[in-house]
Amino acid sequence: ASLEALDDDVPEPSRQQDRTEPQPARPTDSFDNIPDTDPSLPANLAWGREILARVPASTLGRDTVAAAQIGDEAGLEQVIAKGVAQSKSWGALSGAERAEVLHKAGDKLNANRARLLEVMAAEAGKTLDQGDPEVSEAADFAHFYAELARTLDTVDGATFVPSKLTVVTPPWNFPTAIPAGGVLAALAAGSAVVIKPAQQAARTGAVMVEAVWEALDEAGVPRELLQLVQLGERELGKQLISHPEVDRVILTGAYETAELFRSFRPDLPLLAETSGKNAIIVTPSADFDLAAKDVAYSAFGHAGQKCSAASLVILVGSAATSPRFRNQLVDAVTSMKVGYPEDPTSQMGPIIAPAEGKLLDGLTTLGAGESWQIRPRQLDGSGKLWSPGVRTGVARGSRYHLTEFFGPILGVMTAETLEEAVAITNDIDYGLTSGLHSLDADELDYWLQNIQAGNLYVNRGITGAIVRRQPFGGWKKSSVGAGTKAGGPNYLMGLGEWETAPSTA
Ligand code: GLU
Repeated sequence: ASLEALDDDVPEPSRQQDRTEPQPARPTDSFDNIPDTDPSLPANLAWGREILARVPASTLGRDTVAAAQIGDEAGLEQVIAKGVAQSKSWGALSGAERAEVLHKAGDKLNANRARLLEVMAAEAGKTLDQGDPEVSEAADFAHFYAELARTLDTVDGATFVPSKLTVVTPPWNFPTAIPAGGVLAALAAGSAVVIKPAQQAARTGAVMVEAVWEALDEAGVPRELLQLVQLGERELGKQLISHPEVDRVILTGAYETAELFRSFRPDLPLLAETSGKNAIIVTPSADFDLAAKDVAYSAFGHAGQKCSAASLVILVGSAATSPRFRNQLVDAVTSMKVGYPEDPTSQMGPIIAPAEGKLLDGLTTLGAGESWQIRPRQLDGSGKLWSPGVRTGVARGSRYHLTEFFGPILGVMTAETLEEAVAITNDIDYGLTSGLHSLDADELDYWLQNIQAGNLYVNRGITGAIVRRQPFGGWKKSSVGAGTKAGGPNYLMGLGEWETAPSTA
């Protein structure tokens, strides 16, 4: 990509969209993202504190919504049969008709913001500033895919044939936005859906699904179009994925999980966003104050538990020796308040489970030549509350350089030149997100031409993709089977089949 091409890809956002008017069939030219909650307004702050006060005792998703527990093969067949039955009438609707329901779903997700924030904090340890953009993103997915659905029925003379049944298997770390993204895309593309939320975030998945059900209810569409399930045993997961009536699986999770799914069924149409080991490069031309802030947020937001998180910063030339960046980074990281989300002053929450295995190793053990610039510490007896850690002296080719740890650890590497920094980044098998902090146009051009990652961010943090403006999708081992980006203009086109009418000439 050159700089000119990049300009073409980012049209000016339109600020005037009236949903009561017939919607234009050009969604990428007119789409307004739902704004996040502004905590600087006193009313919003009070609203947030009220939500947090409920978190320790929250029962949301526990009693209100019951997932169908698939206990055996007969139960599995029932779920499949119900989904296939629903897909007939849903898939026969026009894209424009489905769009109406999707827009309703977006409104319901947004209207359930407080409930979703509460259950995400209670279950996944999300602070409000981490959870809030997820709700906006989920609603954005609904409205954006609604608009795409309108244009999907025929494209260039080919007719879109919806899938019958799509299985969505999201992770726990974005328990609202990622499941919503998969579910809403599949629904917009005319498929019935079975969603199995991650065990650790099952309640959030239930509250999200319930919001979409409210929209189905209002539209007179049976809830069985979107079935929420949990599996009694692991083996049933294999049977679900291998089932011949399942047309497609949308997975976000570890690369190994995608491989496992493929081993269950080699011809499985699978759209998988997988792991990452992401770096931000800082050159001597960068604004070091801005870079330090963006690196700290990208590394330690949600305690680093994002596939998109920065776990490496690569300092080029004098950026490595100048005290400015280092001092700003140390200040940013050591001043970060770590605590549970129910404490409104917490900036970094807990990790999802007591640290063990690879993550515990990453939090406690250094590789050859490495030292702690900031040593991570356990802050209580839970094993879940860790202060952020920064390790320096990470060597090229070392374990820390190449392995995803998925927690609050940042590694500092150095390079003589930008070329070397790019090569260090490209050594990594994954290619999910990548960042450059530089104020030099030639450096930016070189980086854009050579860096191997699906999502590129310049002079900003590398987490927090935005529907339509910054669609999200990986490259190399960060993606399996997914050619198009979630939240981008072509995503729905890969969720069904295309039929070309025989020529009448
Ligand atoms: N879409 C998220 C972001 O841009 C990352 C999703 C993930 O971690 O899987 O930060």
